[in-house]
Amino acid sequence: MEGNKTNAVNKQTCFGCGTCVNACPVGAIQFDSNGKAEIDEQKCIKCHTCESVCPVAAIKIKD
Ligand code: SF4
Ligand code: SF4
Repeated sequence: MEGNKTNAVNKQTCFGCGTCVNACPVGAIQFDSNGKAEIDEQKCIKCHTCESVCPVAAIKIKD
């Protein structure tokens, strides 16, 4: 599946709190049309900050 090799936000568990959006040092996370977090692969520097701050562990960053 496409999502398995790239950064992925679990859209089922993400509840749109915005913590990751505010924590990302390069502004790589925005909300999609459903209010769920979405990572811009071109901007992401794989720092893993979003992974650690998400209260429901909805983000998995692939190195
Ligand atoms: S890994 Fe770092 S740069 Fe990439 S989306 Fe998460 S917080 Fe932003
Ligand atoms: S921190 Fe987690 S729950 Fe909150 S918007 Fe980001 S991915 Fe969704």
